[in-house]
Amino acid sequence: MGGLLSALFGREPPTLDETAWQDVLALPVFAGLDADGCARLRKQALGILADKTFSGAGGAEVDAYMRTAIAAFAALPVLELGHEAYGGWREIVVYPGEFIHDGHETDEAGVVHHIRHVRSGEAMDGGPLVLSWDDVAASGGGEGYNVVIHEFAHKLDMRNGSVDGLPPLHAGMRIEDWAAAFTDAYEDFCRRVDVGEATDIDPYAAESPAEFFAVLTEYFFEWPQVVQDHYPAVYAQLRQYYRQDPLQRQERVAP
Ligand code: ZN
Repeated sequence: MGGLLSALFGREPPTLDETAWQDVLALPVFAGLDADGCARLRKQALGILADKTFSGAGGAEVDAYMRTAIAAFAALPVLELGHEAYGGWREIVVYPGEFIHDGHETDEAGVVHHIRHVRSGEAMDGGPLVLSWDDVAASGGGEGYNVVIHEFAHKLDMRNGSVDGLPPLHAGMRIEDWAAAFTDAYEDFCRRVDVGEATDIDPYAAESPAEFFAVLTEYFFEWPQVVQDHYPAVYAQLRQYYRQDPLQRQERVAP
């Protein structure tokens, strides 16, 4: 059967590295996910592994553990949307650590830069998604940081053309509501960053509306309380868009 499937699809059907799967699912970002949720997460992760190719750069050798960890994080935002939401591109490139891009692209060409000093990740419109493994390994701790979720959020944002912090919304959601929630929050956040106010949210979110959406998506999954406390209207929009309520999920397991 494996031979037949390989002949049909050109490669072996994907499998998960069970050690990686257990390690990653034990992280705080997955807290409260019940058995049914874990099974559906696994299905989406397998879909991502089937759809995407992984390659190493800068000396990184991408093994099954790394592929599985990346797929597990990437599966969380599309748990209720389906991994098809990540369609239209194929390649995931992994560096061992932060990387410096030699940069021939510009923002005008539709490239999203994710720069924290040097880059920990990058998502190119129609092109590859690039990750630093060190930063993948630092993700999932429930403190608001997740480079995988961040870059895949840019990919969702790109589905309707522009990279502007507005992904294609579902039926029943209104662009006016999304724009009002995000514009108010973004303006408030930029003002706080401008005056040097300490914020719970990474100041990098002030870079652009696209970065604000990607960073707030990281917090929505990693540390949802912060989004709910500071920008409840944004939390409500993200809850409708991702069709998940991480705050409620995590509260189920809170001590
Ligand atoms: Zn970014």
